[in-house]
Amino acid sequence: MVYITSSPDETIAIGRQIAARISAPRLILIEGDLGAGKTTLAKGIVSGLGAASEDDVSSPTFALVQEYGPGPQVYHIDLYRLDNAPDLDSLGLEDIWDSGAVVLMEWGGRFEARFPGQPVEIRLEYLEGDQRKIEVAGLSAEAAS
Ligand code: ADP
Ligand code: MG
Repeated sequence: MVYITSSPDETIAIGRQIAARISAPRLILIEGDLGAGKTTLAKGIVSGLGAASEDDVSSPTFALVQEYGPGPQVYHIDLYRLDNAPDLDSLGLEDIWDSGAVVLMEWGGRFEARFPGQPVEIRLEYLEGDQRKIEVAGLSAEAAS
């Protein structure tokens, strides 16, 4: 699926649509250049899942891992600042996965995927101005409308 959005709010709305088609446990890989809108999309997904309001979702670039909940638990991970794979072990990703949560991961493609199962893969690209292209792969066809 490919979407074109023209504002952050439209990207958040796409995130909510994606959330409606996701159930835990699920890994969602979000790729794209800095400022492409990965965290903006995550606001829509996290709020769509009911784990936090969109205003409470911020970039985990410095924290690396943010946890939202209670209720449906969502982890939001940003590996941009992680420089080598051994650091990855210190994040406790296995425990995060074992918790059965939805896991959103920015820059996850920098490292070998360690999560089992088929991830949802989302790629954001700049077009012109505030336009972004959002490509989504791996959502089950069954839930498509
Ligand atoms: P990333 O996490 O990919 O680095 P962010 O979501 O943090 O990106 O930032 C995206 C920036 O681009 C924000 O400043 C946002 O306001 C702006 N922006 C402009 N148009 C859009 C759009 N259509 N979708 C998402 N973000 C947009
Ligand atoms: Mg980000």
